[in-house]
Order: sequence, then structure tokens, then C-alpha cells
Amino acid sequence: MLLGAIADDMTGATDLALMLSKSGMKTVQVIGPDAVSAVPPEADAVVVAMKSRTNPPDEAVAMSLQALAALQDRGVEQVMFKYCSTFDSTDRGNIGPVADALLDALGAPVAVACSAFPDAARTIYQGHLFVGDRLLSESGMRDHPLTPMTDSDLVRVLGRQSRNRVELIDLATVRAGAAAIRERLKELADSGVRLAIVDAVADADLLAIGAACHDAGLITGGSGIAMGLPENFRRAGRIGAPSVVAPPDVRGPGAILSGSCSQATNEQVTRYRAAGFPVFHLDPTALADDPAHLSSCLDWFAGLDGSVPCLIHATDAPEQVARVQQRLGRDRAGVVVEQAMASLATALVEQGVRRLVVAGGETSGAVVEALGVKALQIGPEIAPGVPWTETTGGGPRLALALKSGNFGGPDFFADAFAALP
Ligand code: ADP
Repeated sequence: MLLGAIADDMTGATDLALMLSKSGMKTVQVIGPDAVSAVPPEADAVVVAMKSRTNPPDEAVAMSLQALAALQDRGVEQVMFKYCSTFDSTDRGNIGPVADALLDALGAPVAVACSAFPDAARTIYQGHLFVGDRLLSESGMRDHPLTPMTDSDLVRVLGRQSRNRVELIDLATVRAGAAAIRERLKELADSGVRLAIVDAVADADLLAIGAACHDAGLITGGSGIAMGLPENFRRAGRIGAPSVVAPPDVRGPGAILSGSCSQATNEQVTRYRAAGFPVFHLDPTALADDPAHLSSCLDWFAGLDGSVPCLIHATDAPEQVARVQQRLGRDRAGVVVEQAMASLATALVEQGVRRLVVAGGETSGAVVEALGVKALQIGPEIAPGVPWTETTGGGPRLALALKSGNFGGPDFFADAFAALP
């Protein structure tokens, strides 16, 4: 096995698995470290999906080290720590503490930290992360329910989280090519720096960074940073050319569960409702106060004829999310919605749903765990970073699309189902 990745959330894992699979690596996504041992030996890459982004740092570190041990048992040559392209984290972590722990466990001198993903409009310049033409701190991420990002300077953000020194590799160095990046990494390592935020504003930058990291023990970043990694293995004759993948041939009714409150998801929900599809709005305060709210949602679902995919969402605008959080507290609000989504997923699948779209990273983690899914085979891309997948190795056979909050165009939900046979 060439590459082993540890992803801090479910949709991030899928995004990365898609990136590797599109580039010709036979990639399997597993849910949690325990499923790593069952990955077939012909896989080139395995992505371990965790739900560790918002756990206390100690827990996230322990979970990530467990995943590392499972990957090392399979003899992976290179390890990647995958986090969100918007660097989702709090000042306590978990990107810094997990990266520190992986560096130590692997005995790696230094690792790049680059969340840029120009295809999804995430770019890094002078260490500052942009979402489209806005600084991260002025983007919708500033209102994220769990990890509001209010500082765009990634050297500063990571510096607050890590016990190691963090420095920048600037765009001029990146543009000078892979050899210049390697030289700068060595210089930084020699001066005691162990994490390097790297500027990248175009795919060519990511490819250069990837080439520079061909023998790095640890790479950290968003799925974009993985763009350049398969080429290293191809150049060495160790993987073949990419092949076309078919969509999962799973028949049965469809449904969408959305617990993401990101801007993109809010628009997708609005569009799906406006297009006349059946939509149910879950109210987190009602969920917390009265179990009948969840039953009323299930009654509503039971009354549908299943001819078109329905949407159940807790997705709401920032003012409403703030109101709910004021009432319930941020963590409790998150847990109440995630638990409801998990119960709904189980109930819907029991009632025959076989094609499921889930919006939201944490939400997807909760749903996949409740369904007992062990591994995902990566299918074709619906939108940048979001593939259809098919469940394998445990739980019911499902077509699953796990969408990170900010991903997908305005008609993502309809597009997703239109892409299935
Ligand atoms: P994204 O991928 O957009 O970040 P996530 O699922 O990772 O989405 O995170 C969204 C979080 O917000 C989840 O913990 C979810 O339970 C919570 N949440 C969803 N709807 C609401 C709401 N209306 N009010 C407060 N929190 C909510």
C-alpha cells in the first residue's frame, strides 16, 4: 500500500478518496481504524475517515494515532493527514495537535500544511486563506456552527494550535518549483520549524508541492494537496493510468438528509424546495424539547409515495443557528441535530431508502456510523470533491453521496440523483 490517509471528517475523506481515485490510485475509504485490516491488498491508497474534527484535542490525537498504527500495520509508505480546505478548527485544535503527534510518531522532521484547493476556490497567498475573493474570516466560515474561522492568517492559526514552530513557504518559492520547495523545507527543518504553511493559488502550485513531497513521511492539508501525490508513484511506475468509474447501480427510493448550515447548503436547500420536491424542516429546539417532532418527520416521510427523493434538513441561516445555539448551547445543538439525522437515516433505510445524499461533514459522520457502514467504494464525481459512493463490507448496500457543507452547485441535490442510472 502506497499511501495511507487519516481524514478528520467523513466528507473530507470522501473528497480525498475521489481525488486519489481520479488520479489513478486504487483507493478504498474505510470508516475508522478498525476497518483498515480488511482493505484488499491490491488497494494503492486507503483513506481512514474519522469524526475527530471537533473532539477535544487529546481524543483527536489518540484517534489519529490509532489510525496511524493501523495504516503502518498495512505497510503504507507515505501518510497524509487530511483536514478541511477551510482549515476548520478551533484555537485549541485539532489540526496542530494531531499534526504534532503524527510528526513525532513518524519521526518526520517537517511537514507541509496546505489546505488550498483552487477548484473549490480555496487559495493561500502570503499564508492567508481565501474563499473565492474573500478572506476566510470574511467568508461564510466565520459563522460556522462548530468551527467559526475568524482569522485568515494560517501561520498564526496553526501557530496557536501547535507546540512546534510554524513558518511560511511563500508563492515565489513555490513558483520556483519542486527543488526550491524541497530546499526551503530542509532549511526550515534545520532551523527547528516542523510545520510549513505553503502558498498555493493554482493547480500547478499544488502539483509542484506534491512533487516536492515525493519522499516526505507526512503530508498535511486539504484534498488539493493530494493532487500531486499520485504522479510521484506513476513516475516510479507503481500505479497505472486512471480509469472511468461507473455510478453505483443501487436501485430504490432516494432521500437527502442535510445538517449543514454552510452558505452553499442553504442555497441548495432553498433551490430544492423551490423546485417543488418534498421538504421537511427539522427544528433543533423542537427536537430537544419534544420527541414527537422526530416522529412527526417520520410520519411525513411515511406519507410520501417515494417517487422523488425527499429532503429533510436542519439547515438554517446564521441568525437562526445563533438563536438555536443561544437556547441549547453550541455543542448540544450540534449533538441534537446529529442524533436526529442518525435516527432518521436508520429509519429511512429500514423503510427501503437505498440512495442517500447527506450534507455536512459532522452530519455525514453521524449518519454513516449509525448505518454501520464500514467501507466505501468511490464512484464518479457529482461536483468537485463529492463522488457517489457505494457501501461495501457491512451494513445495507447503499448508494451514498456525502457532501461537505460548502461543496456543490446550487442544484446539487437534483444533480446528484440525475447522475444515477
Ligand atoms: P458542514 O459540512 O457544513 O460544516 P457539519 O455537518 O459538519 O456541516 O456541521 C454542521 C453542524 O451544525 C452539525 O453539528 C449540525 O448538527 C449542526 N446544526 C445543524 N443545523 C443546525 C441548526 N439549525 N442550529 C444549530 N446547529 C445546527
